[in-house]
Amino acid sequence: MDFRRLENADLKGKTALIRVDFNVPRASDGSISDHTRIDAALPTIQAVRDAGAKIVLLSHFGRPKGEAKAELSLDFLLPTLQEKLGETVGFTTGADPADIKSNITLLENTRFHTGETQGDQSLAKHWAGLGDIFIQDAFSASHRNHVSSAGLAAFLPAYAGLSMERELDHLAQALENPNRPVLAVVGGAKVSTKIDLLSNLVTKLDMLAIGGGMANTFLAAQGYDVGKSLCEHDLADTARSIMKSAADANCRILLPIDVVAATEFAAHAPHRVCGLEEVGPGEMILDAGPETVNGLLDAIDRAKTLIWNGPLGAFELQPFDTSTVETAQYAAKRVKNNGLIAVAGGGDTVSALKHARAADDFTFMSTAGGAFLEWMEGKALPGVEILRT
Ligand code: AMP
Repeated sequence: MDFRRLENADLKGKTALIRVDFNVPRASDGSISDHTRIDAALPTIQAVRDAGAKIVLLSHFGRPKGEAKAELSLDFLLPTLQEKLGETVGFTTGADPADIKSNITLLENTRFHTGETQGDQSLAKHWAGLGDIFIQDAFSASHRNHVSSAGLAAFLPAYAGLSMERELDHLAQALENPNRPVLAVVGGAKVSTKIDLLSNLVTKLDMLAIGGGMANTFLAAQGYDVGKSLCEHDLADTARSIMKSAADANCRILLPIDVVAATEFAAHAPHRVCGLEEVGPGEMILDAGPETVNGLLDAIDRAKTLIWNGPLGAFELQPFDTSTVETAQYAAKRVKNNGLIAVAGGGDTVSALKHARAADDFTFMSTAGGAFLEWMEGKALPGVEILRT
């Protein structure tokens, strides 16, 4: 994908508005419980600073819905930012450009303005007046047509930051221009949240493995009795039509061929491995069985590129994490030893792959949830479109 990269931006003596994602998780005492998003923004901030530009950082935090709510102020970030950047970081509501005195200034929560989420032109013009150049470094917010993720580009030249660049390069490597065969592993709870994603993927991939609760809907659509498993029976037609599109597009669908059935949705609930015909009326499918895992490992052996979204079972409850853990660990091994390109992201995927201790070995873990899914759905992301050359 061709887009404007930071290395081509003329930064010396300019003021750069950098869109970052500081929507970080906070513990009950207010401390930042995970620094991943802050750390992901640092390389771009440091590169822009080194290039001789002043910086204004823009981010949303939570859902203040257009109101200035003290508990959603971004001011809690200042000590952490100052420590990580080794210099004073200013803070402004953005009302007065004269407030921007420090070399680096953090703008108050962008969502304190109703105009932010509405893509309001006058807000875009006002914020654009705070700087000379717009750097989009928050892929995770790029599916929103908000002022701080896309709207500023109407008034300022827009470039991708380094974190955005890494996302776009890896996503293009996985789906736009991949080494084939390409396999996607798509799991998670429900088909209803992933219809667009599955419909798009079957047109682009060589193999699609469907797991988790959503596989139950496909099994039921094929006539299997899934007992009291999580299942969207009303989506049987949708499941059949996705399978038909896959057949038309020569995409092989892999569904479970055996399952782990339990009597309740709880860790260590009584369970057994059984065939698809053997699930009892009082049982629920909580994981894929060992034969299914063998099939997945074979598919991974054949694949040159793997895209992963969603767990293959109820991975938060042991031992129903088994198929997710074994498959993810095998994929990680193929990345290390056989040059497999493995890209993952969206929702619970990062925590599932971290739980499997496979995340660090994947080629790339996207920091995004919704944006990763919309990209897999083949949708144009407003915060990415503005960067195209
Ligand atoms: P998603 O957010 O769609 O990726 O779904 C993730 C959730 O799906 C996790 O919380 C899993 O516990 C859940 N899940 C996966 N497989 C099953 C299953 N067979 N039955 C019930 N829930 C499942």
